[in-house]
Amino acid sequence: MWNKSIDQTINSVTCPGCGLSCDDLSITFAGDQLRSLVNGCEIARSFYETALDHSDPTPLLNGSPVTLDQALAACTTHLEQSNSSLFSGLATDVNGMRGILELADLCGATLDHMNGDAMFRNLRVLQDNGWFTTTFSEARNRADLVVLIGRQWLDRFPRLVERVLNPQDALFVQSKQRKIVILGPWTEESLPEDLASLNPQLIPLEMDAVADAIALVRGVIAGKPVDPNRIGKQTGELLISLANQLQQANYSVISWSAAEFDLPHAELSILGLVELVKALNEKRRSAALPLAGTLADITSNQVTTWQLGYPLRTRLQRGYPEHDPILNRWQGLISRGEVDLLVWISALSSQALPPDCEIPTIVLAHPGMRFKSLPTVYIPVGIPGVDHHGHWYRSDGVCPLPLNKLRRSKLPSVADLTNLLSRQLQTASGVSARDLQC
Ligand code: SF4
Repeated sequence: MWNKSIDQTINSVTCPGCGLSCDDLSITFAGDQLRSLVNGCEIARSFYETALDHSDPTPLLNGSPVTLDQALAACTTHLEQSNSSLFSGLATDVNGMRGILELADLCGATLDHMNGDAMFRNLRVLQDNGWFTTTFSEARNRADLVVLIGRQWLDRFPRLVERVLNPQDALFVQSKQRKIVILGPWTEESLPEDLASLNPQLIPLEMDAVADAIALVRGVIAGKPVDPNRIGKQTGELLISLANQLQQANYSVISWSAAEFDLPHAELSILGLVELVKALNEKRRSAALPLAGTLADITSNQVTTWQLGYPLRTRLQRGYPEHDPILNRWQGLISRGEVDLLVWISALSSQALPPDCEIPTIVLAHPGMRFKSLPTVYIPVGIPGVDHHGHWYRSDGVCPLPLNKLRRSKLPSVADLTNLLSRQLQTASGVSARDLQC
């Protein structure tokens, strides 16, 4: 029984604040408010405070409050009239994504996640080349050398040091034996205390120099002549030393966040990292650890892949899946005028607003979302891991983690709404579930 008059503590909570999915949070509520949060970082605190501050389930139709039935009827009309709809945002849990896919199939929609650009920097390398990746547990327990690329991984995944690089317990390699090398725009002074305490080796580098740096390391490992002066003598010598360390390590891990590679042809930089891992595996064990999963990008892609046989950026308009990682980019579809309806789903963040666009927009989103310009229909939805139970995939994609229900709520889940919309569309069009692709 949920009793608001006494403090409630819930342990072993899984946090959907970023792709690390820490599952050791302990949350105490006083009434509807957060009283204390144990093990959560600042992103987690902000996630739970924002979630608990908002619970109004009132939908808006053209800016005016309406009932849920009226809002759903308006959505059904727009979906029926649309010839080419785009379902994007896609920040939801596994069940939400399953419901979205069924509805998208009925509508012949195109699907892309709001983080699609970052996600496809990795996926295009995987599609063209394959890769060898590891999990957080393997990295924590076995890696004796971890190479971290870039700088934003610490802001985007704040507990990576505590959970993976320097955990309290590790099975085969103790944290003190683990060498850490960081390539990126860092200085000794900019290292936070917990990271500095691990004595990482810094190789200062801008992100657009990563491809050249990794090419030099691969050249050394392949036994080719390299010129360290081409990248700056000091940096070049550090990279040669890194190549030697990588060849001696028993289990090296190379990690990056594709979101930080916001530069032209970024997939070529990531391809270099993946090829480096491949070369190291000829003699020793090495693995990549791409960091992602925030706003459920991994979750939405996993569900899409197992349902359709293709990843996101897939169009269902012709009655079968057509995947195109370039043409089906959500920003391009809107700017080229190729879609006539946008359905934007953002259950995990009040900040992930739909883009300003001329076409009608249906928004199924966080109850705290505040719009710059109001969409055609807005239905506040329950937040997975706060308003309802669910599952989602963390960055390494290997295990779906359970998300708890933390409060009583009248907010419908994305799965509830998309399933209702599918039933209404099926009734209106006479399509049966057997006719669907996914
Ligand atoms: S690091 Fe990520 S998953 Fe862990 S508590 Fe912070 S926001 Fe949540």
